[in-house]
Amino acid sequence: VEQSEKFEFQTEVSRLMHLIINSLYKSREIFLRELISNASDALDKIRFLSLTDSAAYDTNPYLNVSIVADKATRTLTITDSGVGMSRKQLKENLGTIAKSGTSEFLSAIEKDKDKVSQIGQFGVGFYSVFLVADRVTVASKCNDDPVQHVWISEAVSDFTIAEDPRGNTLGRGTQITLHIKEDALEFLEEATLKELISKYSEFINFPIYLWATRTETVPVATEEDVVEKEVSEDEDEAAVVDDELEGEEKEKEPKTKTIEVSEFVQMNTVKPIWTRDPKDVSDTEYVEFYKALTRDTSDPLSWAYFKGEGEVEFRAIIYVPPKAPANYYQTLSDMQRTVRLFVKRVFITDELGTDFMPRWLSFIRALVDAEDLPLNVSRETLQKHKLLNFISKRLIKKAIDLFHQIAKTEPDKFTDFIREYGPALKMGAIDSQQHRKRLTQLLRFASSYNSSLASIGLDDYITRMKANQTSIFFITGSSVDEIEQSPFLERLLARGYEVIYMIEPIDEMLVQHVPGYNGKMFTNIAKGNLKFGDEKDLTVEEEKEQIEQFLPLTQWLTTVLSEYVEKVVLSKRLTTSPMAIVASEHGWTGHMERLMAAQAQ
Ligand code: ADP
Ligand code: MG
Repeated sequence: VEQSEKFEFQTEVSRLMHLIINSLYKSREIFLRELISNASDALDKIRFLSLTDSAAYDTNPYLNVSIVADKATRTLTITDSGVGMSRKQLKENLGTIAKSGTSEFLSAIEKDKDKVSQIGQFGVGFYSVFLVADRVTVASKCNDDPVQHVWISEAVSDFTIAEDPRGNTLGRGTQITLHIKEDALEFLEEATLKELISKYSEFINFPIYLWATRTETVPVATEEDVVEKEVSEDEDEAAVVDDELEGEEKEKEPKTKTIEVSEFVQMNTVKPIWTRDPKDVSDTEYVEFYKALTRDTSDPLSWAYFKGEGEVEFRAIIYVPPKAPANYYQTLSDMQRTVRLFVKRVFITDELGTDFMPRWLSFIRALVDAEDLPLNVSRETLQKHKLLNFISKRLIKKAIDLFHQIAKTEPDKFTDFIREYGPALKMGAIDSQQHRKRLTQLLRFASSYNSSLASIGLDDYITRMKANQTSIFFITGSSVDEIEQSPFLERLLARGYEVIYMIEPIDEMLVQHVPGYNGKMFTNIAKGNLKFGDEKDLTVEEEKEQIEQFLPLTQWLTTVLSEYVEKVVLSKRLTTSPMAIVASEHGWTGHMERLMAAQAQ
């Protein structure tokens, strides 16, 4: 027998635990959701392993989760036949924090206790057991470790790992026993458990059982019955018929009694939502599924269900979350886990990477279940499969369709959508030549027509264009205020042109990559020689005359400003301002120069 060993929790875990055990949380019931979700993850893992190693199941072939409450010992026990953990994994997974962002979570719950319900999003869901328990035992057995181990902790500073004195009772899997706190005894009540488990297991694809008690009225067997039964079991069919006839003849007064029956009752239906006929799935179900999938507490902004047929058969659900993740635009390269891929209902991976879902679209959350992909290959081989490429294309197209549908039918929602994801669409228009047109069509800007909101689409702009106008005029700047002070605007506004205000940092890139829209070129009004096409041109003679007349001034300015400007010319662009500094046609605008300077710092 191995020695039992005591370990200290990582400092951050300790801090988390302190917060968890020292205050009363309204939403502490979420520990059950976290345990069910961990069990489901572990079952997903063994099912995935069994695809390439069919013997993996043998140690415990029946995939499920069972939950038993025992008031006498004040314990709640959750057992799964998932992948299990070795001694080393118990120590690492239940003692240290793998993901970053825990401090962020800690300060969030310090400010607002309800935020504890988001614990799962931060990769520390397990520790929520200490919301309701003062002692926790985790027994676990995995295929790679010949010995079953137990992990025991009373929270805060340390935990102990030892060989399980009961031996290998699990075959394979994990059994978590919570010793329930005095003030949390409600979590041993069957009615409470039924309600919570139904809620949290609805979208889990493995059966979840609760040990439950019901009363039943049963006939009391007489000695005669027992004898008859035994005889009939040994006889052939004819004897059974005989027996039945006899039973009808007798018509005895039935004797009954009421007994309590305890048994495992399945709490979920295990029919994945995406495999059901979408006509039978309500909006509420889609919303709840989104929350189960993402652990977001708010409703999704929108969603779409669709089926792929033909080249590859699959079903998919796409969700648009109500908000872009915090720091979304800064951490874009790290974005992952956008899409959960299943093959024939078996969870394969949620790390498909940017080949599958381009970065600019990684704000959506999706689920794909494909029929035709090979199951018995490694994750890596599967990820390179050409059918995945096909699915990815369909998914991207459907997502853009969904955005267009929101734009068309739900203007208020679309305003929210643009606020959250406008820059992502611009990134898409820059990156994807294929979808450029439909993405550019979705973009919204402020303009001289309405400067208070980013609400002007390029189609709107074009309907207001003047008869001879061939350009979409725009100006860049860091704010509407700054732009409205700009001398370049004057002349266009005076002539009645509408000018698009581009105030997001990504806009400069956008107009460099997207030359125009619908046959109209983007034209920066702060650059080069602006032609309107409706100027009353001076004759060559008149022009010469003017240039000559102002020559002393322009020559003097050229000398004085030689360090700062390339050249000084007479312009027709200004109406009330006497002078303006203009970027050369192929040079950077002042706004871009400022951006570059800021980036260099
Ligand atoms: P997360 O689930 O986000 O990784 P948790 O704190 O819930 O974070 O769990 C930490 C880790 O502990 C899991 O990633 C997993 O490796 C392991 N674990 C927890 N519960 C189980 C279980 N029932 N079976 C196997 N491994 C588990
Ligand atoms: Mg978890």
